[in-house]
Amino acid sequence: MTETGGSTPLVRLEGVNKYFGDHHVLRDINLTVSRGEVVVVIGPSGGGKSTLCRTINRLEPIDSGTITFEGKPLPAEGKALARLRADVGMVFQSFNLFAHKTILENVTLGPIKVRKIPREQAERRAMELLERVGIAAHASKYPAQLSGGQQQRCAIARALAMDPKMILFDEPTSALDPEMVQEVLDVMIGLARDGMTMMVVTHEMGFARRAANRVVFMADGQIVEEGEPERFFTDPTTERAKDFLSKIL
Ligand code: ADP
Ligand code: MG
Repeated sequence: MTETGGSTPLVRLEGVNKYFGDHHVLRDINLTVSRGEVVVVIGPSGGGKSTLCRTINRLEPIDSGTITFEGKPLPAEGKALARLRADVGMVFQSFNLFAHKTILENVTLGPIKVRKIPREQAERRAMELLERVGIAAHASKYPAQLSGGQQQRCAIARALAMDPKMILFDEPTSALDPEMVQEVLDVMIGLARDGMTMMVVTHEMGFARRAANRVVFMADGQIVEEGEPERFFTDPTTERAKDFLSKIL
């Protein structure tokens, strides 16, 4: 099958199951993400949201079912796996910046090492991205010299520097002081508007309402309900979702 139009989903999970020992953490997951789509994943802690994200760039192998990216099964190893990891960026709750590298180096490392971009070109592009996320003035500082919100914006610039086809965000604002949440969400809303394909684990309803095409509610390893954000937040159909929303709203 060739990948020309935007009609084939970028990512498709079919009948995906995943166990940690006896613990069935992903149960028969069926999910597609189309190009340019923003999918918000929401649900109680321990429900499998992080594991779901990690299966998509194959940080976690699955036990049954299939996951395709651009119509092809996820590669298990080698250059193809490295390419997948470059194509599917990831932004974590804990930023995961390299502490002993500057902000600029954090952003140029992947493009130079993995994408084989010449240093000067990588630095030029990194400065554009740091500009875009509003921290260009801090390019020569180290992560610890920046606020949490600035570090997370650096992590987003680092993901973008790889020219990913999709970015997975796993609770990107959960570790931030409240006053820094919005500056990160604003960057993400900008990316969504620019057409980046995104899967975002977050409980930030404002973000979901403004940027998401679809909300997926996950609990106990299953997709319990999914729908358009406004509908989901105002009129969830399952008891499980109603109960969850009553606790976080
Ligand atoms: P969420 O992100 O929704 O909080 P997770 O995907 O992190 O949920 O976890 C789902 C379940 O899998 C939890 O019960 C968690 O304890 C378990 N789990 C996650 N990672 C591992 C692991 N590496 N080894 C064993 N159990 C794990
Ligand atoms: Mg999680």
